[in-house]
Amino acid sequence: MELSKQVDDLIERGALFVINHSAGKDSQAMTIMLRRVVPARQLLVVHADLGEVEWDGNIDHIRKTIGDIAFETCRNPNKTLLEMVERRGMWPSPGQRQCTSDLKRGPIERTIRRYLKAHPEFGGLVVNCMGIRAEESTARSKQKPFRFHAGNSKAGREWYDWLPIFDMSKEDVFALIDEAGQKPHWAYAAGMSRLSCVFCIMANRSDLRTAANLNPDLYSRYVRLERQIGHTLSMDGRGLEEVTGIQATT
Ligand code: SF4
Repeated sequence: MELSKQVDDLIERGALFVINHSAGKDSQAMTIMLRRVVPARQLLVVHADLGEVEWDGNIDHIRKTIGDIAFETCRNPNKTLLEMVERRGMWPSPGQRQCTSDLKRGPIERTIRRYLKAHPEFGGLVVNCMGIRAEESTARSKQKPFRFHAGNSKAGREWYDWLPIFDMSKEDVFALIDEAGQKPHWAYAAGMSRLSCVFCIMANRSDLRTAANLNPDLYSRYVRLERQIGHTLSMDGRGLEEVTGIQATT
């Protein structure tokens, strides 16, 4: 069946569409797009809250831009990102993104399972939507935009993963946000090209510099942690101060 027909069929069947929302532009554009095709009562926004390592205003920004859609936040109750790094003595790597699996995907999937239990009207039928775009990287371009998730389809659940904005360009994303009369998170206007953790293991030098200038205290914590564990956030083994050219202040 064609993808748009599969989605129409799932809307008809009353599925719950869950929007994984990071507060970034892709999540925001995906929300605008989904709100146009899926009734609000079948939508749920979930944000994995990473606390101290997130940008200021993430949750406010999400609340302001999702209109009448239900909203939940979640956290891993056992560790924060910095605790995870300290315990392991190393930063996650782009190939082994323990940060994403343990702090975002896991808590979001638990939230979905709990929500479905509390809302039997969805009959366990769920479409988990993520704002991944093919253009972002070669690895991402190889992902399947829609798939049945056998591993999560148990205990009465029928679970699909969908990447609704897979084919959109960065320009399309900003244009959609603008057309909806919204603004992206303030950090874009302040110079960030991506909005995720303030200091992401996959960030480029320019974003790390901007983030360091905007968040000097958090930057110092990252620099101190690099020294403490003898392992750097950047894969090439250069410490943050060397990469950014910015000295930590404390
Ligand atoms: S934004 Fe970057 S550092 Fe943060 S959880 Fe995702 S991959 Fe890890």
